Amino acid sequence: MNYRISQRAASLAPSLTLAIDSKAKQMKAEGMDVVGFGAGEPDFDTPDHIKMAAIKGLADGFTKYTPSSGIPELRQAVADKFKRENGLSYKPSQVIISCGGKHSCFNVIIATCEAGDEVIIPAPYWLSYPEMVKLAGATPVVLTTTDRTEFKVTPDQLRGAITARTRLFILNSPSNPTGSVYTPAEIKALGDICVEKGVLIMSDEIYEHLLYDGAKHQSVASFSPAHYDHTIVVHGFAKAWSMTGWRLGFLAAPEPIAKAIDAVQSHSTSNPTSFAQRGGVAALNGSQAHLPSWLAEYDRRRKFAWEKFNAMPGVSCVNSRGAFYLFPNISKLGLTSADFCARLLEQEKVAAVPGIAFGADDYIRISYATGMANIEKGMARIDRFVRALAK
Ligand SMILES: *Cc1c(COP(=O)(O)O)cnc(C)c1O
Repeated sequence: MNYRISQRAASLAPSLTLAIDSKAKQMKAEGMDVVGFGAGEPDFDTPDHIKMAAIKGLADGFTKYTPSSGIPELRQAVADKFKRENGLSYKPSQVIISCGGKHSCFNVIIATCEAGDEVIIPAPYWLSYPEMVKLAGATPVVLTTTDRTEFKVTPDQLRGAITARTRLFILNSPSNPTGSVYTPAEIKALGDICVEKGVLIMSDEIYEHLLYDGAKHQSVASFSPAHYDHTIVVHGFAKAWSMTGWRLGFLAAPEPIAKAIDAVQSHSTSNPTSFAQRGGVAALNGSQAHLPSWLAEYDRRRKFAWEKFNAMPGVSCVNSRGAFYLFPNISKLGLTSADFCARLLEQEKVAAVPGIAFGADDYIRISYATGMANIEKGMARIDRFVRALAK
């Protein structure tokens, strides 16, 4: 049988992150002592009050379809969060609850982009963005950045990439995979250009609460009514509440875009899991007391790993200011990022993600969302690996 795969699906690059992850898991299952730096998820458990809210939902029989864009309490809780934390006024009808932040991104792109449209994506990028753009039939336009600018695009670079076909600019600060955080002034400057040129911004702010060294987050939507009108803010519960497996995310958009996304979602996934949404309400409206201790722990790990990288011959690493990743430069060691990571896994049993997966072959990505003992062991192994390479 000759199965014809659609152009749309055939054009997708398979996920290198997942390939590394499944190899590492297989090695672990075979009894090997693998240190996993590949995961893009917190190692902390979901806070209890959130779990209890979902359990109560189940016990109460809250197990049926909900409105496709989410339960009114959760849309209201999201609107309240944006008001309280970001100074943004959204009506609940402008808020869409989806099956994860990834799904929210997908909905935005599918609802706003089509064949002939260009979408500007700064690299290193979260690896799903270009693939989602391709799924929508649109064209990703990648803007390369390096560690010399802390992986930030400059206003001139953005301006130079905008054409009559540019539909969307994707902004992700704090960033996965680099941990880079734009200052409010830098965000505003990029937003100003999009407003001037009539380009929409998809601002993925899922790491907004994970900041270090006094870094500040400000949503691009908050600088003026015009910025607000040009922006869709994407967010979710995965990172700051450690709810990756719950599949729950949200977005806020100008009314016509929210309406279009509502229609898309109503014909694809329908509502996110009913009782998970109850957990979402508890996450937003309940105590945030877990966060300071998580942040202190991430910060400790970040400093430790960053110092270790910079002490390795031929390796340099700008420190991250947000999220839970480091993105060291390994280009002086003479291997592609894929070869580096394959050999590191083979020889030292450490799983890291090659930068090429994020459009940046000079680097690798390390997640420090894993215990300190793991980090100490893994960094010692990387150090030994790098010293052998540098000889
Ligand atoms: C984790 C992540 C998301 C959303 O993940 P979900 O599990 O789908 O909520 C979105 N954007 C970035 C950059 C991420 O790292």
